[in-house]
Amino acid sequence: MMELPARRLLLVHAHPDDESITNGATMAKYAAEGARVTLVTCTLGEEGEVIPPGLGRLTADREDVLGAHRAGELAAAMQALGVHDHRYLGGAGRYRDSGMTGLPQNRREGSFWSADLDEAAAHLVEIIREVRPQVLVTYDPDGGYGHPDHVKAHRVAVRAADLAGERAYRRDLGEPHTIEKIYWNRVPRSVAEDGFARLDAALPGLPFPRAAEVGDVPGVAADETVTTVIDGSAYATRKADAMRAHVTQVVVEGPWFALSNQLAQPLFATEYYELARGTAAGAPETDLFAGITGASPAPPAARNGHTDGRPAGTSGTPGGRSQVR
Ligand SMILES: [Zn+2]
Repeated sequence: MMELPARRLLLVHAHPDDESITNGATMAKYAAEGARVTLVTCTLGEEGEVIPPGLGRLTADREDVLGAHRAGELAAAMQALGVHDHRYLGGAGRYRDSGMTGLPQNRREGSFWSADLDEAAAHLVEIIREVRPQVLVTYDPDGGYGHPDHVKAHRVAVRAADLAGERAYRRDLGEPHTIEKIYWNRVPRSVAEDGFARLDAALPGLPFPRAAEVGDVPGVAADETVTTVIDGSAYATRKADAMRAHVTQVVVEGPWFALSNQLAQPLFATEYYELARGTAAGAPETDLFAGITGASPAPPAARNGHTDGRPAGTSGTPGGRSQVR
């Protein structure tokens, strides 16, 4: 077997643009630090709307060529993030965007929502067994906000993570591999509320007519559900560039952005996660790989040695190994 990089991160997303909006800073940071970052996108986002009027002909109700166009946007976004391993689940175009909840496209033949779960998961098992990630990032069981493709991406990711570790399952897809930590994407409610408060103050000077609301942000949850904080502020520009690469989907203006509904949202350079499987090492964790044997960060000096529950030089700290935000 080829030698693997020390740190391997897999992200599973529904459509082109979800990765940059949700995890762009995290992806850029780990890629820059030498981790192998693998993105799997489940559909081409064929049912999306298009922001620039000059590209309106691309949509599903006109020429229906948005998917191929968005593949180009995603490739440009990966360049901006410095991520070199990007794949589509089952190959580009294998699963089609299912559209928003309740549309007839949900159940159309070939839609991701109508796909057989185990068949879709098998494609991901093959990738997991090849790349052998220690960490998987995807949406929560609600898909972050209920979009059928996001819900399905969650189900496929979890099913594939389970199957990949089963010794008896499909050995033709590679040697079994168990992912040590699985995270859901989150935004702490207080962070979202602070962001929208700042946005409301800035809105009169912005090219967006109105602001979205906290409830419009996928993955918002009570602060205490968040286990892990990735400070991506050094990669905020890369994240914004990656979002901008999704020309048909996103408009970025400073630390704000809007989707096709033109509702402004804060662009978060710090990204948040809920550890759903595995053991947290820190409260909050500041590294998705924290506690994973053999997955030292690039600069080893940055790590505090710890083998038991008590951090050096402190006493009486409940929970041990805790770090101050
Ligand atoms: Zn999406």
